[in-house]
Amino acid sequence: MRIGGIEAGGTKMVCAVATDDGTLLERVEIPTRTPADTVPEMLGFFKGKGIESLGIGCFGPVDLNPESETYGYITSTPKLAWADYNIVGAFQEALGVPVGFDTDVNGAIMGEAVWGAAKGCRNAIYITVGTGIGVGVCINGEPLHGLVHPEGGHILMARQESDSFEGCCPYHGCCLEGMASGPAIEKRWGKPGRLLQDKKEVWELEAFYLAQAVANYIMLYSPEKVILGGGVMHQEGLLEQVQKKVVDMLAGYVHHPMIEKHIESYIVHPALKDNPGILGAVYLGMRAYQNVQLETNEVSE
Ligand code: ZN
Repeated sequence: MRIGGIEAGGTKMVCAVATDDGTLLERVEIPTRTPADTVPEMLGFFKGKGIESLGIGCFGPVDLNPESETYGYITSTPKLAWADYNIVGAFQEALGVPVGFDTDVNGAIMGEAVWGAAKGCRNAIYITVGTGIGVGVCINGEPLHGLVHPEGGHILMARQESDSFEGCCPYHGCCLEGMASGPAIEKRWGKPGRLLQDKKEVWELEAFYLAQAVANYIMLYSPEKVILGGGVMHQEGLLEQVQKKVVDMLAGYVHHPMIEKHIESYIVHPALKDNPGILGAVYLGMRAYQNVQLETNEVSE
């Protein structure tokens, strides 16, 4: 069985076809322009591929409430061409297959929970650190939704004493994304992170904010695995610094061998390498297909 996946991002749309065991057969990246320019090109990729369902892991905010009139819409994004755009409707109508939908990071944590580093975990979180910071949460084997969806990238941070950077989030200033995203690094230090690889103080401070967030997520969600992905996490040694600081910040309060003895296998890189987002989308497509099967069986019984 073939399933389509879309990892919808602000700079690129990753489109793929995979089998239901998570093997990628084909994968392309299409630059994100306006929906009128980008969506036809994406549809062109899926045409004739024989996919039986499609999953979309999308940048947010998105409407995930199936009861809502705007379910499947990208809502109030600063990427204005995509604001109030019915992305699920567009693909459902054109391809005529069931479409699964969630945030990009909820897709990614589900991909990792089924095929990757959090395999076998009931509760796990995925944090992507790149142009923005997003957090996907899997609780009891399901992606977490609520009033809307978690916005763990925007939790408010306690500033490090010597840090005078105001933060680059237009909403909060000193939130996790405002202090530790790729653009925050560039704005604070005057150069992008890839040109600062040898500057110890850059990564020390980066680890301080990431660890602070991870320590908070551990206390809130009690995840069995914490996965840190995204471009910024490619910096050598950063993951190890975060591991160490998380242990320090928890200060012996949360007792578990995973924290006290095995932190290196508790806070980890994605096992799906650079593909947790797209494989997560494929998983969402698989779920959409299974849900339709369940509904059909219920009707025929
Ligand atoms: Zn913010």
